[in-house]
Amino acid sequence: MEGGCTCRHVRYRLNGRPMIVHACHCTWCQRETGTVHALNAMYEAERVEHIGAEPEIVVTPSASGKGQRIARCPVCKVAVWSNYPGFGPAVRFVRVGTMDDPGQCPPDIHIFTSTKQPWVTLPPGAKAVAEFYDVNEVWSDEAKARRRVLREKAGKK
Ligand SMILES: [Zn+2]
Repeated sequence: MEGGCTCRHVRYRLNGRPMIVHACHCTWCQRETGTVHALNAMYEAERVEHIGAEPEIVVTPSASGKGQRIARCPVCKVAVWSNYPGFGPAVRFVRVGTMDDPGQCPPDIHIFTSTKQPWVTLPPGAKAVAEFYDVNEVWSDEAKARRRVLREKAGKK
C-alpha cells in the first residue's frame, strides 16, 4: 500500500498490514483532524518507507502532556503519520485517509467513544471501548508477536 500528502511531495510505501487500526474519538483527535475521529493504522517505523521527500516533524501538545510528533509534508503541511510517547519513535500511526486506498484499512476498534459525537453511529458489531483497552485482549496473535519484537528492541520486557 502507498500513500502521501496532498501535493505528492511526501510519499510513503507500507510494508504489510498494520498491527491494528484505531478510530479514535477523543476530543484531541477531533480537533487535530477537524472532524469526528482520527483513523490511525499502527506500523513499525521500518515498515513505513519514504519514497518521496522526508516529512518534517512537528512537536504538538497531546492529552498526556508529553507531546506527539506529527510528520507533515514540508510543502503542503498535510500530516501523514505521528509518534505517540507511549509507543515511542519505533511505532508510526499512519493516517489512513492519506493512503491511496483508505478502504484497505477500516477500523479494528473504536476508542474513546465516551467523547464520540452523538450523531456518529457505529456499525452493529463494531468493537468499541469508552477509553482504551488491553492489547492482550484485542490484538491478533500476529500483531502481538510484532509488538514483542518492538519491545525487545526497545529493551523492555
Ligand atoms: Zn505536500
